[in-house]
Amino acid sequence: MSSLQQIVSCIDGYDPDALPVETARAAIRALIVPVSANERVAVRASLGRVLGEDIVSTVNVPAHDNSAMDGWAVRASDLRSDGETVLREVGVAYAGRKFEGGVKPGECVRVMTGAVMPPGTDAVVIQEVVRAEGDRIVVPAGQQAGQNRRLAGEDLAVGRVVLRAGRLLRPAELGLMASLGLAEVAVRRKLRVAFFSTGDELASVGTPLKEGEVYDSNRYTLYGMLARLGVELIDMGVVRDDPAALERAFNEAAASADAIVSSGGVSVGEADFTRELLVRLGEVLFWKIAMRPGRPMAFGRIDGAWFFGLPGNPVAVMVTFYGFVRDALLALAGRTDDYSLPLLRVPSATALRKKPGRTEFQRGILERGANAEWTVRITGSQGSGVLRSMSEANCFIVLEHERSDVKAGDLVSVQVFDGLA
Ligand code: AMP
Ligand code: MG
Repeated sequence: MSSLQQIVSCIDGYDPDALPVETARAAIRALIVPVSANERVAVRASLGRVLGEDIVSTVNVPAHDNSAMDGWAVRASDLRSDGETVLREVGVAYAGRKFEGGVKPGECVRVMTGAVMPPGTDAVVIQEVVRAEGDRIVVPAGQQAGQNRRLAGEDLAVGRVVLRAGRLLRPAELGLMASLGLAEVAVRRKLRVAFFSTGDELASVGTPLKEGEVYDSNRYTLYGMLARLGVELIDMGVVRDDPAALERAFNEAAASADAIVSSGGVSVGEADFTRELLVRLGEVLFWKIAMRPGRPMAFGRIDGAWFFGLPGNPVAVMVTFYGFVRDALLALAGRTDDYSLPLLRVPSATALRKKPGRTEFQRGILERGANAEWTVRITGSQGSGVLRSMSEANCFIVLEHERSDVKAGDLVSVQVFDGLA
């Protein structure tokens, strides 16, 4: 028994011929070992990358107590609680140009938003409530010590772990790193992913279609899905259903990539020679997953590369990619934050047929109805070869393993295709 097989066979409910989606995910999670190599890049170039080190704040952000509003900085202890207080303005503090000097009892300083709080002051009275008559400043009752003042380190305090290694760097994190004065940051190296299509019936775009051929569309959807994950791509084209050609392709891919994604060639009948080949080249598990579309799938290791053998049907490729490959590649890339796709609960606009005992990924359109409530309906034909169903959809309707038929108005789980990246 291969070592992969030993590990996955310990997983509860592991049956390669009827594998629930969640169990297949658990098996992949149990096996993947993330990359750990880092490279240093400029902060802007780190957008979309995985942070490679903990970022600890070496400074306070903000560095000084400062005013949150335009107004007058005052000593709160000067202020009367039962009526107006008259103070004397002794200077002005701007953002980036502080007030030099002290503020004695009975005095105040004109301050702009972001200005360092003048020494001795502890509150800012907003300009809208103040009456200024020359340097005579009249402050109404009802002010609180500490009001409209931002404290040093209130955003990020010295010594605090601001960002943990393994998280995705988004626009907010770029700004956060810049606010600490960082110019460069360590990120995990990019994954290299090789991908190819298999099938004697496949024609490449730009060539005329012969009888019985179909254009190779999977390599385009795979390209799009992989490119969005930010990996380096190695496009290996179309490989014929020929053991020698496949062996060459697998060896070449394994020598240069962290992961290999192929489409086609794993369905019953075809799997026989692929299986014989892959068992010889590496450790590969062949699964029949309890799902629709996308039942057959191969997963394993060929030399140093993880291998995902996806089904050939164009919708099944996308469903299995989003269901398994996406998470596996994010884990491999070193992500440790929660990258699972959110499932929303939305009423189904129509009845849906569903057999218990498999997870279905129906293609749906999430839309706002007349009463402004969100509902979901399926796109037309749900055949696993009908790629139009993916193009028309903006979400998957995920019908869980045990679920049976859905009535109109029942809540269903929805996974939106495009999220805030
Ligand atoms: P397979 O899994 O190889 O048996 O393929 C299942 C179905 O998907 C067949 O109808 C294939 O013609 C189709 N198919 C396989 N690969 C591709 C591809 N790269 N592009 C478009 N259709 C494909
Ligand atoms: Mg095929």
